[in-house]
Amino acid sequence: MRHLHFLVALAPGLALAAVSASQGDLPLTAPVPGGVAIVCVGQAPSPAPHVVFDGQRVLVARVGDVWHAVVGLPLALRPGAHELSVLDGERSARTIRFEVGTRKYETQHVTIADRRKVEPEPEDLRRIARDQESLVRAFSTFSDSAPEGFAFDLPSTGRVSGGFGLRRFFNNEPRLPHSGLDIAAPEGTPIAAPAAGSVLETGDYFFYGRTVVLDHGQGMITMYNHLSRIDVTKGARVARGEKIGAVGRTGRVTGPHLHWSVSLNNARVDPALFLSSEVRKQDSAGLRPAALGGASAESTPIRCGE
Ligand SMILES: [Zn+2]
Repeated sequence: MRHLHFLVALAPGLALAAVSASQGDLPLTAPVPGGVAIVCVGQAPSPAPHVVFDGQRVLVARVGDVWHAVVGLPLALRPGAHELSVLDGERSARTIRFEVGTRKYETQHVTIADRRKVEPEPEDLRRIARDQESLVRAFSTFSDSAPEGFAFDLPSTGRVSGGFGLRRFFNNEPRLPHSGLDIAAPEGTPIAAPAAGSVLETGDYFFYGRTVVLDHGQGMITMYNHLSRIDVTKGARVARGEKIGAVGRTGRVTGPHLHWSVSLNNARVDPALFLSSEVRKQDSAGLRPAALGGASAESTPIRCGE
């Protein structure tokens, strides 16, 4: 069984990436804060188990005859031992332990000319709280339909101007780490859905500006921020490659760019882990997953022992 799982871990970086989505082309595994852990949770043909991590339902994907939990690990998660709660049909819940390693992300200093976007006023704080509530509700959504796959396209052409996980200082004030990937592009550059999904939310937020949130199924949610224009409406189905809006400079920005977030079980994780190997080859520096650090994609085989 070990060999099968080793192959699964390698698949996204090799020619095997062409396997069909129904076979579960899983994201790259990076069991660190801001990364993704892939944990064996059962054997098919038994039905997919119900898996919960930290109170959130977890995506479960079948590869061959094995069910894998694809667990998003928040940037704020403490390294060490963690547990999944697994429920098979009528049987009582069991727990599966997995280890989370450490990852030191780089530091970035950003100068924001609009001081109010760094030191919000009381009325802004009320709006920010409403924004947060709406976004957490979106990110906590778990729809039963399975994602079509995990090998994403890049949603916009452009240069990576801010990697995932950067420990950020705005005008020298420490702020939350960077929970997405920034792609700098001229205003009006089209943004396309990197995978099929449905529009979960659209809005205009204080920090994030004009925003689209897509639901790809089973808690896999992606978000697009700072848009100049939104081209979809809430509830609409979008196909892979369909235009959802255009790059802009709304919200807290230093210039036009797309901030792209990927979330699993309400944890924002490194979007580069989900890019197809073809996409990652186009820009080896900017699109190398920060959650992997210096490690190669092959270095973390997935164990599946009973
Ligand atoms: Zn960003």
